[in-house]
Amino acid sequence: MDFAYDHRTEELRERLLGFMDEHVYPHEHEFRSQLDALDDPWAWSRTPLMRELREAARSRGLWNLFLPGEHGAGLTNLQYAPLAEITGRSGHLAPAALNCAAPDTGNMEVLSMFGTAAQREQWLQPLLAGEIRSAFAMTEPDVASSDATNISTRIVRDGDGYVISGRKWWATGAMNPDAAIFIVMGRTDPEAPRHRQQSMVLVPRDTPGVVVKRALQVFGYDDREHGGHAEIEFQDVRVPATNLIAGEGDGFAIAQARLGPGRIHHCMRAIGVAERAVELMVDRATGRTAFGRTLAEQGVVREWVADARVRLEQLRLLVLKTAWLMDTIGNKQAQREIQAIKVATPETVQAILDRAIQLHGAAGLSQDFPLAQWFASIRTLRLADGPDEVHRRSLGRAELHRER
Ligand SMILES: Cc1cc2nc3c(=O)[nH]c(=O)nc-3n(C[C@H](O)[C@H](O)[C@H](O)COP(=O)(O)OP(=O)(O)OC[C@H]3O[C@@H](n4cnc5c(N)ncnc54)[C@H](O)[C@@H]3O)c2cc1C
Repeated sequence: MDFAYDHRTEELRERLLGFMDEHVYPHEHEFRSQLDALDDPWAWSRTPLMRELREAARSRGLWNLFLPGEHGAGLTNLQYAPLAEITGRSGHLAPAALNCAAPDTGNMEVLSMFGTAAQREQWLQPLLAGEIRSAFAMTEPDVASSDATNISTRIVRDGDGYVISGRKWWATGAMNPDAAIFIVMGRTDPEAPRHRQQSMVLVPRDTPGVVVKRALQVFGYDDREHGGHAEIEFQDVRVPATNLIAGEGDGFAIAQARLGPGRIHHCMRAIGVAERAVELMVDRATGRTAFGRTLAEQGVVREWVADARVRLEQLRLLVLKTAWLMDTIGNKQAQREIQAIKVATPETVQAILDRAIQLHGAAGLSQDFPLAQWFASIRTLRLADGPDEVHRRSLGRAELHRER
């Protein structure tokens, strides 16, 4: 077993680390003030900083690294994992700068795997080029959406088109006016078997009847850096039949295919967040004194830092193993490991952030440090892309089945 990264990964890591030092870390605080200055405060992709970063990343060949195969950089999951971890260290800037930010990544994967040549030409190409953004609208306020077979938005065939009616929420990125295309999941055939009732269609944002109603907040954060999370109403929205992705009834299978890589990408970036939290812990602990000793000299603090290191290393190994399995036996066969990391990562990183906040005292909760915002963001991963309980349920079932 070889734990070293291969040559290409090492070379890209070097390049990316240089990019982070030169272009990302020094500008982290400018992003929010540039967003505040925009005519439309949701249009993060229009900030001068993001434009500069994207140009710089592209010119260094740090672009679309997430996408395997002919349409992207062609990296394996194992090669991409350590790179995604680095981008997670500055999650508001770096993933978007490299055109590797969710939900565009998942949407590009869907189009590259299931899109027709015409759909790819119209939507995948501009997404790959970073000219437009996108959103994914599956979750609904009125049904338990962790069970995708509940999704009840209707997609009804009518002549040469489909008519979509229903209400969605938590469509990440959709508040950004540059999110030109929405992938919408809905029910085409309520009579079909449970996993064949759903389909996915491409809905251009400017189609009549698409009403972006409001932005949802996460613990009071508006997440403007990611284009927010939108509630959207589809009021008898008509699109051509050619906007259907794959076939009628394929929606559930596409959703499953989309979520595998998305889940591991979240985990990789979350490890970067945790690494940075440990760095902040060390800085704070060595620079502050209480009761006659630095915080670093207090036994409990050492324990926290040591514990964070132990848990982080365990996590990274499991994520890398999962990436390797996805590359070697396929996403479907690696489903148990994907579920395991999807449960383990946010829980562990949340616990590390909690200790980091505690170590910073009240400052850790404030806007002067990034910890509170990171905590809010990592907490969402225990729900987004499937709640912990749903993954545990299916993992437990598989394990019991195997034992039997
Ligand atoms: C920040 C953020 C971004 C998101 N981005 C998107 C997006 O871009 N597009 C999109 O479509 N959605 C998005 N979502 C929505 C997310 O995917 C859903 O919230 C998630 O799938 C859960 O669905 P729900 O909220 O309807 O919860 P429900 O389905 O109502 O579940 C509620 C709770 O019930 C429990 N539960 C459910 N099933 C089981 C079970 N089988 N066993 C035990 N307990 C169970 C769990 O504790 C669960 O948390 C986002 C969510 C967040 C927080």
